[in-house]
Amino acid sequence: MGIDYTIVVSHGNRYNPTRITYSLREAIETDMELPYEVWKEFILERDNYTCVECGKSQDQMSAHIQIISHHKLFARDGGKYIMSNGEARCWKCHRRKHSETPALPELVLYQYNGRDYWMKPR
Ligand SMILES: [Zn+2]
Repeated sequence: MGIDYTIVVSHGNRYNPTRITYSLREAIETDMELPYEVWKEFILERDNYTCVECGKSQDQMSAHIQIISHHKLFARDGGKYIMSNGEARCWKCHRRKHSETPALPELVLYQYNGRDYWMKPR
């Protein structure tokens, strides 16, 4: 749980960027709000890249179906990017979770080669 994640914020001035470092330990202890990029990484790190529902881990999945960070309370319902509002899920369990929930989003997050894609559930 000792990882740090530094993001660089340029505020329009790329010659004098601000570096902000977040610590996973502190994020868990304080449940502070995090930038999306940091939150997403920390949830996966904390849950060891393993789906909380079916127990599959990243290396058991095919390259294009990955473990993703899931909002327990959806962002559009006021869910925040805090550690207590996230859990790692594989893409299948993530999709199932969303389709069980009345607040079904139009799109689900899909990750490929480290990039995020929002796609309609099949
Ligand atoms: Zn799963």
